[in-house]
Amino acid sequence: MKGYVSSIQSMGTLDGPGVRFVTFLQGCNLNCGCCHNPETKATSGGTEYSAAEIAEKCEKYKAYFGQKGGITLSGGEPLMQSKFASEIFKECKNRGINTCLDTSGSILSADVLSLLDLTDCVLLDIKYNTDELYKKYVGCSIEKPLEFLKVLNQKGIPTVIRQVIIPTLNDNSESMAFLKSLKEEYPCVYKIELLPFKKICKTKYDNLGLVFPFDCYETPSAELIKQLEAKL
Ligand code: SF4
Repeated sequence: MKGYVSSIQSMGTLDGPGVRFVTFLQGCNLNCGCCHNPETKATSGGTEYSAAEIAEKCEKYKAYFGQKGGITLSGGEPLMQSKFASEIFKECKNRGINTCLDTSGSILSADVLSLLDLTDCVLLDIKYNTDELYKKYVGCSIEKPLEFLKVLNQKGIPTVIRQVIIPTLNDNSESMAFLKSLKEEYPCVYKIELLPFKKICKTKYDNLGLVFPFDCYETPSAELIKQLEAKL
């Protein structure tokens, strides 16, 4: 089976446990103002690969993965190509490679459920704590990722909740209390990661001739991130 890939980072250390072969799939169903990968959003484009080709490339780095590492499918939104993603994970599992999905959790279909059965861990973005913010700055209801999290918990898939901290939008006690409540409610969540909003992606927007919607927001200080982490 073939699918479309935006780019590959062969030795990533930021997207999942250990060293990972991070494959950014092309296409996204959402429209986040803070998106740092605008080149992955279009549903057309990307480079065509077969699932076996991705797994073969990934296998070359297996020696670096150790106990925890493996492949991470990111995007874009990897759930947009869930059949292709399942094929990649099947090929990887046949090669003894750990599988991780980096997703916004906004699509639940039979194909996505099958993909989850091949997924060893999930990085789930919870972008805000209200439906209003979700609808305004993401383009879906907050119910979508919450339903997704419920399914992850039912399936017992180890999950990291991640949130990009954007000053004035989600750098507050309510948002941290919401994340904390999700961790308490769903035992599959073993960690919450706060990531600082960065504007380095502005060059990508400029090169694509697009306006960076969140150019007006500041990058949070390391101190602010620490203060928020303390609330978790
Ligand atoms: S879900 Fe990810 S790739 Fe899609 S628009 Fe949002 S930040 Fe960008």
